[in-house]
Amino acid sequence: MAVIFDIITATLLLTVTLYGVLLVWRNWQESRMATAYFGEEIRLLNEQIERQQQLSQVAVNTARDAWDGFRKFELRGKVLEADGICSFYFAPHDGRPLPPFYPGQYLTFSIKLPNEDKPLIRCYSLSDSPNHPDYYRVTIKREVAPRDNPDAPDGKSSTYFHRVLNPDDIIDIKAPSGHFYLNPEQQNPVVLIGGGIGITPVLSMLNTITAGGSSNREVWFFYGARDGSEIVMKDHFQQIAREHPNVRMNICLSRPRPEDQPGTDFDHQGRVSVELFKQLLPSNNFDYYICGPAPLMDSLTTDLYDWGVPKEKVHFEAFGPATVKSVRDAEADTTAAEAEKPVTIHLKRSKKDISWTNQAGSILDCAEAAGASLESGCRAGNCGACELAVVEGSVTYLSDPGAPVADGSCLACVAIPEGNLVIDA
Ligand SMILES: Cc1cc2nc3c(=O)[nH]c(=O)nc-3n(C[C@H](O)[C@H](O)[C@H](O)COP(=O)(O)OP(=O)(O)OC[C@H]3O[C@@H](n4cnc5c(N)ncnc54)[C@H](O)[C@@H]3O)c2cc1C
Repeated sequence: MAVIFDIITATLLLTVTLYGVLLVWRNWQESRMATAYFGEEIRLLNEQIERQQQLSQVAVNTARDAWDGFRKFELRGKVLEADGICSFYFAPHDGRPLPPFYPGQYLTFSIKLPNEDKPLIRCYSLSDSPNHPDYYRVTIKREVAPRDNPDAPDGKSSTYFHRVLNPDDIIDIKAPSGHFYLNPEQQNPVVLIGGGIGITPVLSMLNTITAGGSSNREVWFFYGARDGSEIVMKDHFQQIAREHPNVRMNICLSRPRPEDQPGTDFDHQGRVSVELFKQLLPSNNFDYYICGPAPLMDSLTTDLYDWGVPKEKVHFEAFGPATVKSVRDAEADTTAAEAEKPVTIHLKRSKKDISWTNQAGSILDCAEAAGASLESGCRAGNCGACELAVVEGSVTYLSDPGAPVADGSCLACVAIPEGNLVIDA
């Protein structure tokens, strides 16, 4: 009897144990399937949360560490990147932390040249990602006299950076600013286009996307130059192309040298063009970020609009006044800009009248052509050096100012009059 009882107990115990094991195994299987099913979503969600946290941190750090006016920086390193192009690494002289910035923004420098009473103001784009809290990097091309005017002086600021500024020298820099930037928080697919030295802001965007570890954002990168001697950081671009399958690297040389090897040194012969985009991109549905010389910006923006890309998806930055003029938005032109008859700009302090027509360019260009001397800096609406009070009348802009403008004032380098005007100059 006892034996039968033992057998029944053992059988019951075995059944319960087996049932328990079965339950545990089923739960494990279900959670494995759920993990496999939701794993990708959870990973993406985690990535988004992490990015959001990083961005909130960026905003907090920017507010905490930003500074007003100019701050002293030391040149820590100078690296030759290509013929006539150097990178400069600056660390704050006060040793305090640096605020982060948005990739695409620029620094404004105040340069004290020997034998000049006024400092020279120039803007240079940050060329690395903001993931380096101890330094800012800019990459500068030395501007030489134009081919059609070889006797003209070389570029003042770029020559100073290349020839005069040495490690440990101190220079004054304004905090990062500018509206041409990529939002690292978003995941929308982008086409980044840099022509010549215009590579710098889009390089910062590329480095930010790849350094942030985002492997999902689709990036098409186009770098246009004349030949291989003008390409900066080739190894860096090649490494990004190898390590980040989400980045499609395209180097375009318009006039490659015999030693520039297709497939190794460059991907396409010719200029960066919308024709090339049509061959390569799966659709036109991207946000486009463009910086380069005037003809490139002009043709790309026009052709992108013709291809049906909405204006709000085409973002560009000008490095100088010529570019600003050539990409001006026709819709923003005013009655005055279209008018044939001249309007009068009265310079109140100099007691001078100048005549402006739509051929005269900005108020600054027009005043200088008439022999007046106005304060100016970047000549692209970015540094704020040419801000003037408008006493009577109103202005509109050839391109949106990058620097804040006080009510009742204007940035003369990108402003044009809407009718007769009196300015405090
Ligand atoms: C937002 C922004 C970002 C920028 N980012 C970068 C960047 O990342 N990297 C970069 O390299 N640049 C950048 N620039 C351009 C930069 O600010 C300067 O404009 C550039 O370095 C030239 O300045 P410069 O003082 O050397 O030349 P300037 O002295 O202003 O001279 C400009 C050109 O005019 C020529 N010139 C001078 N005098 C005469 C004359 N009498 N007749 C005919 N020609 C003459 C010079 O030889 C030179 O080629 C940026 C500009 C802006 C607005």
